Amino acid sequence: KTNFRNLVVGVNTKIPLINGSYVTAINFDNAATTPPFVSVLQEIIRFAPWYSSIHRGTGYKSQFSSNLYEQSRDVIARFVKADPKKNTVIFVKNTTEAINKLAYRFCEEGKKKVVLSTCMEHHSNDLPWRDKYKVDYIDIDECGRLSMEDLERKLRKYKDSIALVAVTGASNVTGYRNPIHKIAALVHQYHGKILVDGAQLIPHVPFDMKPDGSPEHIDFLVFSAHKMYAPFGIGVLIGPKSVFEQGVPADVGGGTIEIVTHDFIRWAEPPHKEEAGSPNIIGVVALAAAVRMLESIGMENVERYERSLTDYALCRIRTVPGLRLYGNKEDCQDRVAIIPFNIEGMPHDILAAILSYEAGIAVRNGCFCAQPYVQRLLNIPGEEVKKRIQDPKMDHPGMVRISFGIYNHYDEINVLVQMLHKIAAHRDDYLLKYKKILNRA
Ligand code: PMP
Repeated sequence: KTNFRNLVVGVNTKIPLINGSYVTAINFDNAATTPPFVSVLQEIIRFAPWYSSIHRGTGYKSQFSSNLYEQSRDVIARFVKADPKKNTVIFVKNTTEAINKLAYRFCEEGKKKVVLSTCMEHHSNDLPWRDKYKVDYIDIDECGRLSMEDLERKLRKYKDSIALVAVTGASNVTGYRNPIHKIAALVHQYHGKILVDGAQLIPHVPFDMKPDGSPEHIDFLVFSAHKMYAPFGIGVLIGPKSVFEQGVPADVGGGTIEIVTHDFIRWAEPPHKEEAGSPNIIGVVALAAAVRMLESIGMENVERYERSLTDYALCRIRTVPGLRLYGNKEDCQDRVAIIPFNIEGMPHDILAAILSYEAGIAVRNGCFCAQPYVQRLLNIPGEEVKKRIQDPKMDHPGMVRISFGIYNHYDEINVLVQMLHKIAAHRDDYLLKYKKILNRA
C-alpha cells in the first residue's frame, strides 16, 4: 500500500448506487480535475486571515498578500525549471486562457504567420490559433503518436514563416507523451518557437524547461492548477519576458498600466501587464502549496507510482472480453496515466453511466475536447462526422477514459476490472436497462 492515499480530500466519501446501497467513491477522472491536497486546503485556511487586495494597498495585510503572490511566481518557476532571468510567470485562469492570451500576443508580432498545431491537441491548443494564423496540423501515426517525420516535413515546407509549434506535452486522450525537447531542438533550427501545453504533463512527471541558450529549451509553457491538486480558477503562462514587453495585452484595465492620461498609456512591465484586474490570490497561494506538496513527494516518485498503476490497469483491463483499447496497448514508458477504451456493442455514454450508477466509479466519456483526435483513433472520416450530425438517431462517437492520480490504488482498479467483466458478461441486459434509464431509443 502506498501512503499517498490520504494526501487528498474525499477519498473515503460514500456515494449512493442505483440500488440504494452506498460505496466508497472511486475517481478515475483525474485528467479532467484532481481533488485538492489536504495541505492545499490547510494553506488556504492559514492564509485566510491575511486575505487582502494585491498590489493595491499600503495596509499590512495587503503588503503581506502581495509579497506572497510575488514569491509564488518563484515557487512555480523553480518547479518547472524556468529561467528566472529570461522568463516571466503570468497567472491566468487556466490553460485555455493562457493559450488564448499567447495567441493574441503572437498575432501582434505580425510577419511570421504559420502556427503548427498537431492532430492530437485538446481544442484549447487548436481553436485559439485558427482565426489569427495559418494553422497546419502535424500528423499522427496509426497508433495516434505524433509523426516526427511529418513535423520535419512541415518545418521544411514553411521554413522561416513558422511562428510557433503548439504541441501537447501529453495527450488527454491516449496519455502519450511527446518528445518535447527533441521537437524544440528541431523547431529552433527553423527559428520558430515552441509552446508546450502542460495541462496533462506537469502534474505527473518532473519537468525541465531548460536554459534559454540550450537548443532544447521550451519557450512557452502553460498548465492549470485544478489538474494538480489545487482549486479551479488559476493557471500559469510562462514565457520570455521580452515577448510580453512589446505591444498591447489581450485584456486591459486595472493593474496593467504604469501611467495613463486620456491620450497616453505606458504599460506596466510583464507579468503585471498581462494580469488585468484584481488577482486571484487564494488560487495562487493554493497552487504554490500544491507545488510544494508535489515537490515533497518527489515528481520521480509520482511518475513511478502512476506508471505502475497504469501498467497494472492495462494488464488487467485487457482480460475483459470485447474490450477495445486505443493507441498504444502495451507500453507504459511514453505515457501518463490515461487509458481510453470501449466495450464492443456498448455505447460509451451507457458504459460510463453503468460504471457510475452500479459501482460508484467516475470516468469520462465522449471525445474529451479533442474531437479530431478521437475521430482519427476511431477511424471516422470528417465527412462521416458531418453526416452523423444531420441524423439525431446516430450515436455520437467517443470512448471511455480512465485517468489516475497519485492517490488512486490497485484495489480500485480491481473494482473497475471486476465491474467491466460483469458488464461484458451481461452486456445485453445492461444495455436494455440503461437505455430505459437514460431515455435512449
Ligand atoms: N489541454 C489539455 C491537454 C487538457 O487536458 C485540458 C483540460 N482537459 C486543457 C488543455 C484545458 O484546460 P483548462 O480547462 O483547465 O483550461
